[in-house]
Amino acid sequence: MTIARSIIDIAIAAAEKAGARRVTRVNVIAGELRGIIPLQLTYCFGLMAENTIASGAQLGLEIVPVSGKCRRCDETFVVKEYRYICPKCQSEDVQTVSGTELRVKDIEVE
Ligand SMILES: [Zn+2]
Repeated sequence: MTIARSIIDIAIAAAEKAGARRVTRVNVIAGELRGIIPLQLTYCFGLMAENTIASGAQLGLEIVPVSGKCRRCDETFVVKEYRYICPKCQSEDVQTVSGTELRVKDIEVE
């Protein structure tokens, strides 16, 4: 719910800044670690957009997989099922490099 709220706030602010009358689509990039359930977010988004200039806008959701970087050998890899182990050297000293992001990529207005 909070996520939907902030996406709409960002989209409306951007649309108002651009002098748009209506937001027709909002494209969002979300990391897998955010645990977003697309159907649920789309539903909340639709609900919260009601009676705003984003009412009826479509939500485009791009989920970014979790990737890690090994601090020992610098290998970058996709983390599956929370296994933070380097596939190259088996080190567990892994830094998360993507999967936590959440941002509005762009919006479409009219
Ligand atoms: Zn490694």
